[in-house]
Amino acid sequence: MPGVRIPVDPRTTWELPAPGAMPRTADLEPLVTRVLAPNPSPMTLDGTNTYLVGAPGSGQVVLVDPGPDDPAHLAAVEAALAARDARCVAVLVTHHHGDHAEAALPWGARFDAPVAAADARVAGPEGRVLAPGERLALAGTALDVVPTPGHTADHLAFRLESGAVLVGDHVLGRGTSVVTHPEGDVLAYLASLRRVHDLGPSALYCGHGPELTEDPGAVLDFYRAHRAFRESQLLAAMVRGAGTVDELVADVYAGVPREVWPAAAQSTRATLAKLAADGHVVMDGDRVRLP
Ligand SMILES: [Zn+2]
Repeated sequence: MPGVRIPVDPRTTWELPAPGAMPRTADLEPLVTRVLAPNPSPMTLDGTNTYLVGAPGSGQVVLVDPGPDDPAHLAAVEAALAARDARCVAVLVTHHHGDHAEAALPWGARFDAPVAAADARVAGPEGRVLAPGERLALAGTALDVVPTPGHTADHLAFRLESGAVLVGDHVLGRGTSVVTHPEGDVLAYLASLRRVHDLGPSALYCGHGPELTEDPGAVLDFYRAHRAFRESQLLAAMVRGAGTVDELVADVYAGVPREVWPAAAQSTRATLAKLAADGHVVMDGDRVRLP
């Protein structure tokens, strides 16, 4: 598409740890300790980030996104609890994907802590379904429940008293996130980016990858521009003759590892659904054409 520039990722000039170089455990601010799970992959980047949130000296923390039910990860989380001299009083989950939610019920039972999420299946029979906008008073601090649908329908972020926002997979520490299909929704995703931007976050603590502290608003702006750029790339690929989802992925994602093409296909389908709703493309199963 003429006139659409490749958006520049502001993080390219930031000093972020190289992939694989994040510390296993890090105190990000007095309220927050992060523990990195040992599950790196092209989709989970360095691995899943588990967050311990609590007022120093309260003796309590909330665990956000326990991650995979992995014994080494559990040992690292328990060591971080001991270092904070705190016990876990609740388990919160940003969304239902297993790399964030798998350990929620078993660890909730182990810590005798309730599990809370937007999805009743994640919260379990004894858990709590969180409502958008509610404020949770826990562990000597407060967490605001921020609805952020898009990556998945049930996705939540949590705003801390410090102004930092735990964003799950809504925003990643490196690269961009995936809008899943058919569950995800590009329009909802864009509105969620705007919602988090409007909070004026002091930092973004992501589900994967390093913390984003230098200019969180610039990253959110880049994410919105990136979605618009993907739309223009898909339309340009169709002008060049791509007529199926697979052909579009092969064209637009030629430069990324094939391992992430299945995820790219989901994002492509989600974007095509938006373009079709806008009347810019016509979908017929896996076939797609310009109107
Ligand atoms: Zn994830």
